[in-house]
Amino acid sequence: MSDIQKSSASVSADQEYEITGHTRFGGLLGSPVAHSISPQMHNYSFRRLGIDCVYLCFEVQPDRLGETVSTFRKLGAFGFNLTMPDKQYVLEYLDELSPAARMIGAVNTVVNDGGKLIGHNTDGYGYMESMRQAGFDVSGKEMTLLGAGGAASAIAVQAALDGVTKLHIANRKSRSFSHAEELVRTINENTACQADLTDLADLPALRDKIDSSYLLTNATSVGMKKGTGAAGGEDMTPVPDTSVFRPDLVVSDVIYNPRKTRLLREAEEKGCRTFNGMYMLLYQGAEAFRLWTGKEMPVDEVRARYFDR
Ligand code: NDP
Repeated sequence: MSDIQKSSASVSADQEYEITGHTRFGGLLGSPVAHSISPQMHNYSFRRLGIDCVYLCFEVQPDRLGETVSTFRKLGAFGFNLTMPDKQYVLEYLDELSPAARMIGAVNTVVNDGGKLIGHNTDGYGYMESMRQAGFDVSGKEMTLLGAGGAASAIAVQAALDGVTKLHIANRKSRSFSHAEELVRTINENTACQADLTDLADLPALRDKIDSSYLLTNATSVGMKKGTGAAGGEDMTPVPDTSVFRPDLVVSDVIYNPRKTRLLREAEEKGCRTFNGMYMLLYQGAEAFRLWTGKEMPVDEVRARYFDR
């Protein structure tokens, strides 16, 4: 149970809200963070449910993560989220990990349970829920997943736990290829899903995997708006050969800036149904909110207010 659930961190939802000496804090650690929509989503939900907490953004590079986490613990933060580049680095500063976070090897949500910091990963849940909300169901089916970074690992583990039968992961042959191999091993040893790994540059092999898949998901940062991440560039796509798109293939992208990446645009032109990363962001946040407060985020209101405008 989180600190918020144990304490009296609540105020009337109707009264005009004031930060007082009782107000609890938490927030987002990472770099860059200023563009994040998380403060609006969580602060609106706290106010709406009468929870006396505030959520802020903190620019924290990995070299200052240890001291920041220690300070958050000492000052009694209710918890925090992590984004790039801190999701993997935070593991060594935590006391406990959820089973999914342990398998993924990355944490995006930390709950402070009376000074004990417990790491979770809600990105995979967020992705799967966004897919369900878009009307798709990948359980009992095959999936091709591009990337093996933080977001991809979370999606891979959650998809395997949620019943994907075969998961084809494709990553470029970089230094992190060994992490991708480890991810495949972990899934094969701990779930009923059969996972395999392909070099993203091996186009014939990738085509074979996509041909037998119901769902193709880009979880690399290729196609992000310039300036929002390392591999920025809206004119880029991880799948330059558009002949792999067939009308019964569902194509998704975890990127939400731009809302329609080149990958999604080209897939739609070939008749594929698509969805982007916007609602993954919403549902990973809703699950973090539930872990901190024990309450459901008012997602319909949050979606209308911050995501669908
Ligand atoms: P990571 O840095 O952990 O992973 C990035 C992935 O992209 C790695 O697999 C990396 O491969 C691959 N990649 C990067 N550049 C290239 C390239 N030029 N060619 C091929 N592959 C490349 O980042 P995250 O997993 O945290 O984020 C990935 C994307 O997911 C980002 O766009 C981010 O905004 C988005 N995201 C969306 C969320 C949402 O809620 N919608 C939540 C979290 C992330 P390699 O290992 O070889 O470098």
